Amino acid sequence: MSQLRIAGGTVYDPAHGVSGEVRDVCIDGGRIVDGVPSSAPRLDASGMVVMPGGVDIHSHVAGSSVNLARRLLPEEHDGDPATAPSLEPGEWLARSGTGGTVPSTFTTGYRYAGLGYTTVFDAAVAPLFARGSHGELDDTPIVDAGFFVLLGNDEYLLRLIAGGERAQAREYAAWLLGAAGAYAIKIVNPGGVELWKRGVKDRVGLDTPVGPTQVTARAILETLVDAANQLGLPHAAHIHCNDLGVAGNVATTLASMRAVDGCRAHFTHLQFHAYDVAPDGTRRSGARPLIEYINAHPEISGDVGQVMFGPATTLTADAAVEYLLHKSSGRRWVNVDVELETGCGVVPYTYKEKHAVSALQWVVGLELFLLSADPWRVVLSTDHPNGGSFLAYPELIRLLMDRTYRDSCLARVNQALLAGSAMADGLAREYTLDEIAVITRAAPARLLGLQHKGHLGPGADADVTVYARDADVSKMFATPRYVVKAGTLVVEEGQLRRAPRGQRLHVRPDYDAAVETPLRAFFDRHSTVSFRNYPVGDLRDAPMLVGRT
Ligand SMILES: [Zn+2]
Repeated sequence: MSQLRIAGGTVYDPAHGVSGEVRDVCIDGGRIVDGVPSSAPRLDASGMVVMPGGVDIHSHVAGSSVNLARRLLPEEHDGDPATAPSLEPGEWLARSGTGGTVPSTFTTGYRYAGLGYTTVFDAAVAPLFARGSHGELDDTPIVDAGFFVLLGNDEYLLRLIAGGERAQAREYAAWLLGAAGAYAIKIVNPGGVELWKRGVKDRVGLDTPVGPTQVTARAILETLVDAANQLGLPHAAHIHCNDLGVAGNVATTLASMRAVDGCRAHFTHLQFHAYDVAPDGTRRSGARPLIEYINAHPEISGDVGQVMFGPATTLTADAAVEYLLHKSSGRRWVNVDVELETGCGVVPYTYKEKHAVSALQWVVGLELFLLSADPWRVVLSTDHPNGGSFLAYPELIRLLMDRTYRDSCLARVNQALLAGSAMADGLAREYTLDEIAVITRAAPARLLGLQHKGHLGPGADADVTVYARDADVSKMFATPRYVVKAGTLVVEEGQLRRAPRGQRLHVRPDYDAAVETPLRAFFDRHSTVSFRNYPVGDLRDAPMLVGRT
């Protein structure tokens, strides 16, 4: 079925200013088109809500840290077995799997599609393990997917910066993106992971000299933000700041934003970086100064990293954070140092309403959403599975759209750290369906530079989600009636029926070939992997074209 008319739905397509208009959406050959013949197959969407497919800008779904989490949590596999879906005859393999906070690959693809999401990015892949991540994404059906490559603690990069070779650092970043088959540059706790690997548990300030290279977090941020912009990458440098989770860290986050003032940059899971300290020394919300800064700086974007009550699995390249969480929670812990590149830690965790810090985190995330002046620049994430599973997005949408419900939830949570917070003072805002369409598809697509996604204009990828209205919007968003991916009807009457392969989204920027000679020598001297074997090689899908500015 290459043609389809989704007829009579109430369409939300904020990229084109369409907000709740009854109109048809036509599809031909995997793309949105202006029209199809009246004889084309027709899907009656009257009374239903039609949006572009969801786009997740920051998740963890493939790669070594995700696999470590799966191995750490056998009880989750037991607790949420996922039988193979009943797909149409002839469909690509239907596979059983496991769910929980870190589902198996096939289940991840099925469940994202079942939620109406059609594009997902893994936010943190060590280049050394990129090949494995591609293998896992090959086994994650339906969704178009890619990943961001970790560069903020990369030994070779730090040496180039220390040597004052920032232009070479940019060329190295370009080479590495192509070698890893990555989509964007990721920075995690710049310099801090490198110090942690050397046994130093101190916090890293923006101007703390790190290790033998004595490079600072500020220099790492400046270099990589510049590189992403000068290389013309579709997405800005994606930044996880220093001091994640630490009381008072909002000062670090603001200082990091000022360090790259005027430059396009994306700051991720803002909620985990928005804590202030009250005069009596207790932790309190720092959401207001942070969001006011973002509101006033159109070059900056972020995703929230909302915490949702219930089970989660924290997994991050920021291994130092995981050590602290392991110590404070007493939960199981994995730490991995990745040679020359980065680190990784995993700790399962449960956010509880009656736990003061959990309640503060929940409130801080909601404040960021509710005080954001521009939904195109502050988008939805739970940092799956760190703040909660992607399956919690519908509940999060209800919290944003329904103040009465939100206030009833707020009344139940531990109030110990909420004094003076904007939420406790009362925030009346309720997101509209149009704004939800912005923060879950249109804006993430735009921030990622995905010109064919997040909208329903002619030429767009035919990724479309159709929701049956429900008084409870969390139900509406949890179980779309129809989902179309690249023109294929994958969810029909709420049931997953088809599971086509998704596309790999990656870039391969041009780079100055002179960067390879010293890099090869560095590999020969320090790496357990040969230079020749390091790149992942050609991927099935062509890289997205990028152009230098
Ligand atoms: Zn993350």
